[in-house]
Amino acid sequence: MGVVVQKYGGSSVATAEQLKRVAQRVVQTRQMGHDVVVVVSAMGNTTNQLLELAQSVSPNPQRRELDMLVTTGERMSMALLSMAIHDLGYPAVSFTGSQSGIITTHNHTNARIIRVTPVRIRAALDAGQIVIVAGFQGVSEQLEITSLGRGGSDTTAVALAAALEADYAEICSDVDGVYSADPRKVPEAGRIDELAYDDMQVLADAGAKVLNAEAVEWARRHDIEVRCVATDGPRDVGTRIRQGGGLRQGRVVAVTAHPGLLMLAPDVPGAPAPLDLEATLAAYGAADAEVWRVPGSWGARVPKQNLHGLTAFRAAMTGLGVRVREDLTLVTAVGRALTGPPSKLGPAREALAEAGVATHGQLVDPGRLAFLVDAAQADAAVGALHRALIDG
Ligand code: ADP
Ligand code: ASP
Ligand code: MG
Repeated sequence: MGVVVQKYGGSSVATAEQLKRVAQRVVQTRQMGHDVVVVVSAMGNTTNQLLELAQSVSPNPQRRELDMLVTTGERMSMALLSMAIHDLGYPAVSFTGSQSGIITTHNHTNARIIRVTPVRIRAALDAGQIVIVAGFQGVSEQLEITSLGRGGSDTTAVALAAALEADYAEICSDVDGVYSADPRKVPEAGRIDELAYDDMQVLADAGAKVLNAEAVEWARRHDIEVRCVATDGPRDVGTRIRQGGGLRQGRVVAVTAHPGLLMLAPDVPGAPAPLDLEATLAAYGAADAEVWRVPGSWGARVPKQNLHGLTAFRAAMTGLGVRVREDLTLVTAVGRALTGPPSKLGPAREALAEAGVATHGQLVDPGRLAFLVDAAQADAAVGALHRALIDG
């Protein structure tokens, strides 16, 4: 049997007791005959607490120093998990992202993995050890420690799975798979057994938190099967994401809202985009913003989660003649061939109107129907689209 990469999210390693349970699950995987590489997130709410601590010291913290700070969260959990595995009688060793050979861009707080050279991981596996890796981090070619953006441990896991030619990457979380909507918000949402990379990519880009969008990109590019399962549940219950998984032409597979989105537009209608817009966005950690330009107009969607120093960002945008709106959310229905025939656009618009949800714009292509709605109506919009478009 080959290598399996498992990733445990923050809620799965929130306490010492949970870490010990994860250690048992890891050992069981090893007993099944796999070589195991484990990627861990920071314990519980640690990353948020570290970011709050930074804010209380400096409202616009240096992004390099933020990375030095936030990457310690994952370093704590990797060491603790390794200790717990040792206590179960199995050899284990923990590595930081940099020790694992995860080379990233230099873009602090939202870096991208460029390549992975897991020399030490390979050597440790060959020596019979279970390897624990700190998620969400790497090192730039300038030898600076970087972090990958919120939710980035998923990306660490899939990129490592690709570099190690693993059999699959198992994403272990507090939910037993990918659902047709966030099950915390839509109780009637159902689990999706199989999902194609394309659909998962659109869903992740549209804001579904269950799997990081960049992780899906790595999986698709290297054809790595991703299994989303519950840490506390059976291993064979969950969602498998792979090439051509669950073909559903013309069917909506899932609906999601994108929480925490900033919408940028020119202050004066028709004014061109600032020349250095992308560079300014990247300088604030928002390299993952989606910018569009059409003749006579432009706009951008900026996920707020990787912006640290929001006040300074707003001021910079105002200085460039850009209006920042925080009162809108994008709600997206994901599937294939949705524009038909028959098109799902009509039923989607009717469902929103019937639920009393006003739309302020739409983005429609065969893979998604997305509507801009008031943030306060996002949950109502997701519920209405789910009821109308997802069959039973
Ligand atoms: P982890 O800490 O394990 O990385 P996350 O909190 O990042 O876990 O992601 C899991 C959460 O994603 C779930 O608890 C759920 O509320 C949320 N979620 C949002 N959309 C979906 C969806 N379509 N299917 C499943 N979970 C979803
Ligand atoms: N700890 C990081 C975060 O909270 C990374 C992760 O959990 O994937 O975003
Ligand atoms: Mg996550």
